[in-house]
Amino acid sequence: MRQFGRVLSSVLILSAVAITGVAPTAGAIKVVAATPELADITKQIGGDKVSVYSIAKPNQDYHMIEPKPSDVARIAKADLVVRIGMDLDLWLDALINASGNRNVRRGGPGYVDTSVSITKLEVPKESVTGASGDIHVFGNPHYFYDPENSKFIARNILQGLARISPDDKSAFQKNYDRFVDEIDRLMEHWRKKLAPYKNRPVVTYHASAIYFLRRFDLENFGQIEPKPGIPPSASHVSSLIRRMKEHRVQAVVVESIYPKRFPELISRETGAKYVVVPYSVGSLGTKSYIDLIDMWVDKFTEALR
Ligand SMILES: [Zn+2]
Repeated sequence: MRQFGRVLSSVLILSAVAITGVAPTAGAIKVVAATPELADITKQIGGDKVSVYSIAKPNQDYHMIEPKPSDVARIAKADLVVRIGMDLDLWLDALINASGNRNVRRGGPGYVDTSVSITKLEVPKESVTGASGDIHVFGNPHYFYDPENSKFIARNILQGLARISPDDKSAFQKNYDRFVDEIDRLMEHWRKKLAPYKNRPVVTYHASAIYFLRRFDLENFGQIEPKPGIPPSASHVSSLIRRMKEHRVQAVVVESIYPKRFPELISRETGAKYVVVPYSVGSLGTKSYIDLIDMWVDKFTEALR
C-alpha cells in the first residue's frame, strides 16, 4: 500500500510537471516580483525553494502597469513581495493595500525594496511636481540595468528570503555567492568589450540606460523624449538632430518598448546607427537577467562600432 502510494504520488507529480512545465515544490516560498528582472534574480537566489510570479510582463512599460484583480489575489497569498521602488512601480502600493496582506506591506517581513543601498542617480534637488510631467520623481529608477547594482538587488532579496525562511539561509547565501561570482566574472568580459568606446556619446529614447552608461564610461548625450515620460515633440527632435550632427553622435540605442518612427528619422538625418536593446528579461529572446545585460553589451558594441 505504501509502495502504491508512492507510485501514485509520483504519477501525480509527473502530471503536474506535464501541465505546468515546472516541478512543483512542496511548501515553496511564494514570491510576487514587480518585474521580470527581479523575478529572475529572486529565482537565482531562492532556487527550488521559491515559486516566483512577475506582475509586469516583458515589454510592458514599468511606469504604466495596469494591475489585474488576479494580481491582488496573488499578493494576498504571497510570502514575499519584491519591488523596484523609487516609484517606478507605484502601482504596487495599491495592490498591496487591496490584498490585506500585512506581512508584505512596507516595513513587514515579506517586503523587499531592491533600491535599498543603491547609489541613486538624477535625484531632483527640488521636488518634482506633476506639472512638469517628469515621471522620475525620486531620481532615475532604472538602476537594474547596471550589472554592479544587481548585487545590491540580490543582497536585498537574500535578506528578505532569509527573514521568511531562516532555515534555508545557508542555501540562499550559497546561491547569492554564486550569482555575485558570475556577475564579477562577466563584468570583466563586458568591460573589455566596451572599453574601446570609452566616453563615446549615446542617445537613447527614455532615460533608462544612464546607470549602464555610467558603469561602462559611455556618455549620455540625450534622450528622444524631452523629459522622462513625455512623448517626443518635433521641436525637441530637430534640436536633438542638430546637436547630434555638431557632436558627431554615432549611436541611437532604443529600448524595445518604444516606437521606431523617431529613432528611424534621427538615424536617417544624422547617419547614426540605430539599434534596439531588450527592455525586459523575455524581450528579444532573453532568458535571464545575465542574458539581458549580455545583450545590452552586445547591442551597444554594435551601435558604437
Ligand atoms: Zn523611467
